[in-house]
Amino acid sequence: MKRLILFLPLITLWLALGAQTQVVAHRGYWKMAGSAQNSISSLINANEFGCWGSEFDVWMTRDGEVFVNHDATINGIEIQRALARDVRGQKLPNGEPIPTLDQLLQVAQQSTTLQLVCELKPHSDKQQEAQAVKKILKLFKKYGLEHRVTYITFSYPGMRLLIQQAPQGTEVYYLNGELSPADLKALGAAGADYHYSVFQRHPQWVGQCHQLGMKTNAWTVNDAATMQWCIDQGIDFITTNEPELLQNLLPSSH
Ligand code: MG
Repeated sequence: MKRLILFLPLITLWLALGAQTQVVAHRGYWKMAGSAQNSISSLINANEFGCWGSEFDVWMTRDGEVFVNHDATINGIEIQRALARDVRGQKLPNGEPIPTLDQLLQVAQQSTTLQLVCELKPHSDKQQEAQAVKKILKLFKKYGLEHRVTYITFSYPGMRLLIQQAPQGTEVYYLNGELSPADLKALGAAGADYHYSVFQRHPQWVGQCHQLGMKTNAWTVNDAATMQWCIDQGIDFITTNEPELLQNLLPSSH
């Protein structure tokens, strides 16, 4: 008993840390000099800053190359309708070439310990999207990063394929906001990754997710007041363009 009492502060600390909100850099930590959204440098910045995870978006060309980019187009080229040779080498605003998922994962494997939050963009052609799911899963396997990936998507069919095809235990979150915790649980999702306004409309969803053994992520939260609201609700992850602002609000940084 005496021993247990000695360990209680440690146990309490562990529980507190376990329950703490985690920082996810939105499109990488790109708000640093010389970086750009969804670039390799933004991934490295997120890692060096100590973010829990770094989010990025992926599109597949019609000949099967997966590129990391937020918008559907880069320099006027629509990735999902283009050939890889037309997209490869296109420059981001900071001069870095657009990364392929393969290139990004190579860097992630060698240089970072981050959780990789991979957003499958909804493709117009759902067969192509299904191929993209297969290709993405294969690339994470190739680099032995299956244990460091969280998948997120606005695509309902994409979510279902990721849940079915990713290795057992891989977390897949849905972004679109209309599904209740019970619906998400029934589908096998890991939780709700919703715009913060959805949680503000349905604050009970946070607790309901937790009761069902799921987690919650709010995006894209860039101001201190909303960050604090999310932290107070017990939201597990916050995706932000301002990782430093969020980090400074979290207890461990004091
Ligand atoms: Mg995204």
